[in-house]
Amino acid sequence: MKALVYTGSRSVEVRDVPAPQPREGAVKVRMAYCGVCGTDIGIYSGKHPRAQAPLVLGHEFVGRVEQSVEGSRFAEGDRVVAYPLISCGHCHPCRNGTPHVCANLRLIGIDRDGGMTDHQWIEESVLFKVPDSLSDEVAALVEPLAVVVRTLHQARFALLQSAVVMGAGPIGMLTAIVLRHAGASNVIISDVDPGRLALCQELGFETVDVRNASLVEHVEAVTRGDGVDTVFECSGVESAALDMTKLVRVGGTICLTATHKSPHAMNLIDVNFKEITLIGSRVYTQTEFGSALALAETLAAELRKTITQVVPLSDAAGIFDMIAAPSINTVKILVDCQS
Ligand SMILES: [Zn+2]
Ligand SMILES: [Zn+2]
Repeated sequence: MKALVYTGSRSVEVRDVPAPQPREGAVKVRMAYCGVCGTDIGIYSGKHPRAQAPLVLGHEFVGRVEQSVEGSRFAEGDRVVAYPLISCGHCHPCRNGTPHVCANLRLIGIDRDGGMTDHQWIEESVLFKVPDSLSDEVAALVEPLAVVVRTLHQARFALLQSAVVMGAGPIGMLTAIVLRHAGASNVIISDVDPGRLALCQELGFETVDVRNASLVEHVEAVTRGDGVDTVFECSGVESAALDMTKLVRVGGTICLTATHKSPHAMNLIDVNFKEITLIGSRVYTQTEFGSALALAETLAAELRKTITQVVPLSDAAGIFDMIAAPSINTVKILVDCQS
């Protein structure tokens, strides 16, 4: 059985791996597609604090139930996506109704083998049935879409508010799409990648190329100096941490959607003087994952446009070079697990 295996810092291989063994409460899922995520890039770079080689990558997968178990909610042939979080059940956050921020949180595809493979046994308690109307490709976007649902909830984003999305990677782009659907009055999205910005424009968003323009000045101009209601920081880059407080209005909200991997400097005086609400966001609850699945049906046509490449599993060892290559325009890459 083939799988994309992380084998050590900056090294992945498509390997023949032994077929995974059945587990209690798990059903056998034949994988269709699995999305490549920023977290996978972090693992590949060797900087992920928990991922240990050898590891089958992939937490954004969709597949078909190939072998069910007695009394299961799922029948053979059902298409499914998985809520990939594994919480401990006994830490303070778990005991207080927030197991998605479990102190010992683990994920399928990070802490144990994931979905970039032929098949995997997955606990049926974390599986969601994919409706017939949703394609496999778009269903593979439910996990990143759930991140976006969480971030809008954390920001308490309200109808007719304006927003800046910093960073037009897969999460930033999905955030902009969902914000428009959620009734944003205006969405401005920034990035340094011309290909990603061109796609944002094609999707109808106002863009700022921060290689040659100031996002702070642009927002000042379009809001007559007031700033926007909410800033979604989806880039994780150092300069964004310093700029974000300049973009938001007095009394506005900044939501940290991206993970800043080091303690970047930000202007705390702005937080006081503008009474800014600064809030973090981490993964999603099971309820939000379910909402994302429903939202994927509504937004399928737009979401599909963020999938820039579908790579066969047999060629998947090249995906990280593809992402790094300036000549290749990538947003969301899917691995086709059966080819
Ligand atoms: Zn992801
Ligand atoms: Zn816990």
